[in-house]
Amino acid sequence: MTRRSATTNQRHDEGAPPVVPPRQALLDWYDKNRRHLPWRALPGQVPDPYAVWLSEIMLQQTTVATVTPRYQQFLDRWPRVEDLAAAPLDDVLGEWAGLGYYARARNLHACAKALVERFDGHFPDNAKDLATLPGIGAYSSASISAIAFDKPATVVDGNVERIVARLNAITDPLPGIKPHLKHLSEPLFMGEDQSRPGDFAQAMMDLGATVCVPARPKCEQCPWADHCQARAEGIAETLPRKVKKTGKPHRYGIHYWVVDEQGRVLFHRRPEEGLLGGMLELPTKAWTAGKRAPDFEAQLAKQAWFRGDWHLLPGVVTHSFSHFDLTVRIAVASRVEALPVDDPAGEWRWVSVDDFDNAALPSVTAKMVRHAMAAMAERAA
Ligand code: SF4
Repeated sequence: MTRRSATTNQRHDEGAPPVVPPRQALLDWYDKNRRHLPWRALPGQVPDPYAVWLSEIMLQQTTVATVTPRYQQFLDRWPRVEDLAAAPLDDVLGEWAGLGYYARARNLHACAKALVERFDGHFPDNAKDLATLPGIGAYSSASISAIAFDKPATVVDGNVERIVARLNAITDPLPGIKPHLKHLSEPLFMGEDQSRPGDFAQAMMDLGATVCVPARPKCEQCPWADHCQARAEGIAETLPRKVKKTGKPHRYGIHYWVVDEQGRVLFHRRPEEGLLGGMLELPTKAWTAGKRAPDFEAQLAKQAWFRGDWHLLPGVVTHSFSHFDLTVRIAVASRVEALPVDDPAGEWRWVSVDDFDNAALPSVTAKMVRHAMAAMAERAA
């Protein structure tokens, strides 16, 4: 691992001791500068584990600004973990719509049920038992046990990685350097001084979110400025380094707009596992990977679940997932044969246009629906 000294600008070897600035300096800074977030206990209040857990899951891959209003809606609708456990899954998915990464909502519901069934509706107070619950991995279990129960734990998110990389002037790039940054974080969280573990974990998050920010860190406001090697070397802004990403891969597909005599639209429920698990989509067979768009016309009949006089609507729908970009065309038909009648597995669902808002459509499906309706309205005009 590459690491430089603040004073000599010589490279350190991997065995150099981690930089461990005084914990109390950060806690003092936190007492004056902490962010006021709706899920956070105020000084002197006992944290609510339900609120801490809900916010932790919502904040995975989603920003504080987006989560804040949605968190309150969730809490208003299901104020206790028992209420969430008793809710139909579709209602939870509907409330989650637009937040993305729907596996989180499914796990949230499964976790609430498990808490009621196995722990009588109470959160276990330690990381080991928390990690046995659906959707609570190593990071979340450490974070919840620290913040909700004030237990010492190493809580390393992207903010902490950035701070630690800068404190130690680590110039090797992410993601390969992650395990080493975790190792360098340990003595910060689990060193001799383990006072106020919950506040310390939140102080690290706040320092990363408000002072040791990715671009232009505000080192003059940092309580650890005198201990920071990257600052001393003038390289703080450049850290942590990242391996340059190549462009995201692209996938393509055709989705089919099928309407019955009552004007209801046919949706297909995606498999429980994987991307958009259990969510509704306009029927499609597969998305194919490629550098260039395929000949959609040539694939029209092959990709259809049902026979019909299919033709493509003008325009495309694009959507960006975390690991690939998607481009789709929408196909319509005036006549479709062999629509699903028996559906024991619950794979198919007819939804009237008036019920689209209540159908928990993920963003990508909602985009396709809007595109199809606009294209057909234009054609009818
Ligand atoms: Fe981050 Fe600057 Fe503080 Fe170093 S001195 S930890 S770069 S804010």
